[in-house]
Amino acid sequence: MSAFGFDHSYARELPGASVAWKPAPVPAPRLLFLNDALAQKLGLDPAALRADDAAAIFAGNTLPSDAQPIAQAYAGHQFGGFSPQLGDGRALLLGELVDPSGRRRDIAFKGSGRTPFSRGGDGKAAIGPMLREVLIGEAMHALGIPTTRALAVAATGEPVYRERPLPGAVLTRVAASHLRVGTFQFFASRGDLEALRRLVDYTIARHDPELAGTPDAPLALLRAVARRQAALIAQWMNVGFIHGVMNTDNMTISGETIDYGPCAFMEGYDPAAVFSSIDHGGRYAYGNQPNIARWNLARFAEALLPLLADADDEAAVQRVVAQAMEVIDAFPAWYEAELLRGQRAKLGLADAQEGDAALAADWLALLHAQRADFTQAWRALADAAEGREAPLRSLLAEPASADAWLARWRERSAHDAARLRAANPRIVPRNQRVEEALAAATEGDLAPFEQLLAALRKPFDDAPELAPYAEPAPAEITAGYQTFCGT
Ligand code: AMP
Ligand code: MG
Repeated sequence: MSAFGFDHSYARELPGASVAWKPAPVPAPRLLFLNDALAQKLGLDPAALRADDAAAIFAGNTLPSDAQPIAQAYAGHQFGGFSPQLGDGRALLLGELVDPSGRRRDIAFKGSGRTPFSRGGDGKAAIGPMLREVLIGEAMHALGIPTTRALAVAATGEPVYRERPLPGAVLTRVAASHLRVGTFQFFASRGDLEALRRLVDYTIARHDPELAGTPDAPLALLRAVARRQAALIAQWMNVGFIHGVMNTDNMTISGETIDYGPCAFMEGYDPAAVFSSIDHGGRYAYGNQPNIARWNLARFAEALLPLLADADDEAAVQRVVAQAMEVIDAFPAWYEAELLRGQRAKLGLADAQEGDAALAADWLALLHAQRADFTQAWRALADAAEGREAPLRSLLAEPASADAWLARWRERSAHDAARLRAANPRIVPRNQRVEEALAAATEGDLAPFEQLLAALRKPFDDAPELAPYAEPAPAEITAGYQTFCGT
């Protein structure tokens, strides 16, 4: 198999951070999905990939000649408890591609077999969860939200054993990097400060090159990551996205969303919404995501502290703890500012005024009290801007409950319907549609997946034929909806 043009900076510059490993061969590769647009962006030719037998490549049977697969080590807090060694238990980084615009991208398998980090797991993945990564990643990308993306999914032709046998698959994932808070925790928890320092240098060179060589660079990195996460979580919140498993090993340094396991989009607006079957305490509930992001950033700060002060120098430790706390304490305000920026766009406000946050909060309180569908309600503001309030009122349990708020909104400014439609998506991955598509794909029918994917790539489109993708599921289905990870 010919070369992709891989570089291997991670393996080269961070000895001890990964293990060289090979994907497990699989019996019958079959290509389920190839992301032509993304391939082209990476400087790869999709037609050549197909001619070269993309199925065998993306199932891991015939690797590009310049791939040097590695399993990355990392640690992480999972549901608040620390595991000093997680690592790529079913993933392998093949290498990095520097795309034509100069951006370095990780190309990695998920579901490619056991590794030294697999612990009790089988290292495999099923078709459904890997196609879910495609659907949600492409939807997020189309919504303008930073995300890892799927380059390909190949069926393996072998079963994976979950509650029942399921057809197996390998995902090829593209990421700005797979550096995560848990990567730093891995070295910090082992007290390997030399490796930690190299990791910080590597990360800064890759994601924040302007910080290289600055005094207190780890602190500056903490600040940069906190800023990116504030912007990312605000974007999640403004589309009703619930990640479901915001463990520190699933929080990237790049600011991209990663790992679409038990995630879901909210339907009826409820800050307490939680779908993950294993999230009993609601730790990762919709409304708790900003708090959890801050908590994760505090764990990131802890991992960086040993680089900032000698543990024996108490005064120095106190000084840097205070500096790190300043960042952690600033996070809520950064997040609120990002949230409000997005809310202003979604409310159709061209400028900033004093009462805007209250206007947005009261709108959300209205949606909550009226059990309105989050996505549809925001979208209906565009109709309201054109004088048609019926679509919005039809979403409310008591249609007249919107009177006072609509009057305030109109008084605040005139609204441009086209701008509102560009800020408020019509189509998000509806849980029921995603489940239908994945169930059909598992049975061998890819048509619903392909149709849904096409719709998700046009989130702001008003085409009538996309209407089935804009509807929420019947309330009784949403009430019982659960998502599962460890898939
Ligand atoms: P995740 O919840 O998918 O972010 O994964 C958490 C940890 O569990 C990571 O170290 C994964 O590599 C590992 N893991 C998840 N599923 C499997 C599996 N089927 N086999 C081996 N390791 C797994
Ligand atoms: Mg993960």
